[in-house]
Amino acid sequence: MTDFDAGAIRAVTFDFGDTLVPVSAAAFRAVVREAAGDVVERLRLDDREAFLAAWAEERDRQMREDVLQDGREMDMGRRFARLIARSRGMAPPPADVRWDDAAVDRAVDPAEVAWALDAYRDRWVAGIPVPEGVDRVLAGVASARRVGILSNWPHTATIEAVVDRAGWRPHLAAVVVSADVGAIKPDPAIFRAAERALALEGAPAGAILHVGDDPRADVAGARRAGWRAAWLHADNAGSPLPGAGRDPEPGAPGPDVEIGRLEEILEVLSEPPRA
Ligand SMILES: [Mg+2]
Repeated sequence: MTDFDAGAIRAVTFDFGDTLVPVSAAAFRAVVREAAGDVVERLRLDDREAFLAAWAEERDRQMREDVLQDGREMDMGRRFARLIARSRGMAPPPADVRWDDAAVDRAVDPAEVAWALDAYRDRWVAGIPVPEGVDRVLAGVASARRVGILSNWPHTATIEAVVDRAGWRPHLAAVVVSADVGAIKPDPAIFRAAERALALEGAPAGAILHVGDDPRADVAGARRAGWRAAWLHADNAGSPLPGAGRDPEPGAPGPDVEIGRLEEILEVLSEPPRA
């Protein structure tokens, strides 16, 4: 814990998965199954079980290549294009060889990918509940400060749809998603993108607080970007999201504030901003 000065905080960003919206493994599995079923039926592909098995392989491939090797977000549209190509008989490359995406794009109509993304978004919004109290938290923080969402997420439209469905839009000055930015937390580049989106470029160090559950992406990332960080000790052991349940990186900057429930951030910020 550090010397935390709430009066200096002019803006607050929230992580999405497992911070604003807890994601259970069972609900996530159901969303993937339902979206896969929609796509298989609509595009008259092979059976859903084969599609789901390919989905898991392509997700793991994107995690390995895009996130771990290239340090960027996975792209859900790219995943669907590869899955549709596979369903039509295109053989996937071996695990250590990258896809020929130009060949994939010759085999798949962009309208089909767009349709698959919409189906995935709609199943996600319908299948992953948003907790009641989050709207009150966002409204409370937004009454005195700029509020944003800052998320590592492979599909921006899904987050935008949750925001609209939950009625959060009036509270938000910015929604910053790695799928658009290219960089992922903890890369300082995505925190810089959030500063621009919040119109706080060049704000003094410590003027922005980021709230998140992942000690590496959220906490160490924010601190290294010159921000303050609140670590939410979310009960996310059962979450399927990549950042869930991670331990802090040894020697990395720790949080300024620790909270057990999202609502506690209102108390942390009860002192209004001075400027
Ligand atoms: Mg998270």
